[in-house]
Amino acid sequence: MIPAILPTYNRAPLAFTHGNGSWLVAEDGARYLDLAAGIAVNALGHAHPALVETLAAQAGKLWHTSNLYQIPEQQALAERLVEATFADTVFFTNSGTEACELAVKMARKYWHEAGQPERTDIITFEGAFHGRSSAAIAAAGSEKMTKGFGPLLPGFVHVPFGDHDALTAAISDTVGAILIEPVQGEGGIRPVPDQCLKGLRDLCDSHGILLIFDEVQCGIGRTGRLFAHEWAGVTPDIMMVAKGIGGGFPLGAVLATEAVGQAMSTGTHGSTYGGNPLGCAIGAKVMEIVGEEAFLADVRRKAGLLRQRLEGLVASHPDVFEEVRGSGLMLGLKCKVANTEVAAAGHAAHILTVPAADNVLRLLPALTISDDEIGEAVLRLDRAATSLKATQPA
Ligand SMILES: *Cc1c(COP(=O)(O)O)cnc(C)c1O
Repeated sequence: MIPAILPTYNRAPLAFTHGNGSWLVAEDGARYLDLAAGIAVNALGHAHPALVETLAAQAGKLWHTSNLYQIPEQQALAERLVEATFADTVFFTNSGTEACELAVKMARKYWHEAGQPERTDIITFEGAFHGRSSAAIAAAGSEKMTKGFGPLLPGFVHVPFGDHDALTAAISDTVGAILIEPVQGEGGIRPVPDQCLKGLRDLCDSHGILLIFDEVQCGIGRTGRLFAHEWAGVTPDIMMVAKGIGGGFPLGAVLATEAVGQAMSTGTHGSTYGGNPLGCAIGAKVMEIVGEEAFLADVRRKAGLLRQRLEGLVASHPDVFEEVRGSGLMLGLKCKVANTEVAAAGHAAHILTVPAADNVLRLLPALTISDDEIGEAVLRLDRAATSLKATQPA
C-alpha cells in the first residue's frame, strides 16, 4: 500500500521537535549537531531570535496580499538586494525551482525582444542541479532526474564539468545563455575555479551570450562572501537565489541586470505567493544580518577552522575519507565507503550531514556555528568514521 506521503524520499528514521542554533532535538530528547541546516536553508540556524521576532511581528500584521498591490516589505528587500549586488531588478519566488523557471524564461525573452528569437539554447553542465520542474530537470539533464518524464523541454546543451574544449565547441548561433552553479552542490560540492568563472564571463561577452549563475545553494554568505561569484570578481546577467535567503521560510528570487529585466514587461510573468510580506520581512532580516562584512569575515574565519580540522580528520581516517573540498562553509568530504553509510554512522554519533553525488558527504552548517561546535562536529565525525572501521571486515 502506498504511504500517505508520496514515497519520493529515502528518509532517515529521525523526527525533530525543536531546534536552537546548530542543534536539533529529536522526539526521544536526543540532541543532534546539525551540519545539514535543512540543506543550506537554515543559514542562521534554528530559532534565531531576530528571525523569530521578525516572523512573529509580521505574522501579527499581514501575511499575504498578492502582487495586485504595493508590498513595502518586498520593495525593501528588492532594494537591499539591488544595493548589495550586480542586479538592477528582482522578482521574488517561493523556491529555487521557480527561480530556475524564470531565469530560463528571461533568457529566452531577452533574445526574443532583441530580435534574435533563434537564440533559445542554454548551455548547462554535467552534475548540475537546478530544481525539479520540467525546465529544471531538462536543464540538469541527468538520467536520474529526467527518466520517465519526457518529452523534456528542449533547448539545453549539456557539456561535461570543467571541459573547456567541449564548452567552446558547444557555442553556436542558437545559444542564448550559459547556466552554472559557481559551486555545484548536489553534484558533490564541486567549486568552479575563479579562473574558469572569469573565462566564462569573457566567453559570454565575446559571443554576446547571457551568463546565469545559480546561487541557490552557494549564495547568502555560504562561501564567506554574500554571493560565491564575488570571489572571482565577475558578475552574471541573471542570478537565481533561494535556500538561505529565507533562513527556513520558503523564499527565492531572480536578480537581473536592467538590460535583461527590460524584456519582462507587465503580464509576462507572475506568482501568487512570490514576494509576500511575511517571506520578504524575514528575507530582509536575513540579508541585514548576513550582509554585514563582520559577519561574513567571521564565516570565512570559521570556514578556515573547519576545513583545517577536516583535513586532520581525513588524514586520520584514510580508509573512510579521500579529501575535503568546497568553499567557505559549503564543504564536502569525498568518501571511500558509501557516503550514505557515513551519513548513517553520523546519525548514530548524533551529527547530521547531507549525502551528495560523487560519493561526497556535504557539510553545510549554519553560518552561525560556533568554534566549539566546529570542534564538536569534527569529534562526532571522527566517532562516526571510527565506528565504520570497526564494522568493516579485517
Ligand atoms: C536546491 C537547489 C535548487 C532548487 O531549489 P528548490 O527550492 O528545492 O526548488 C536549485 N538550484 C540549486 C543549486 C539548488 O541547490
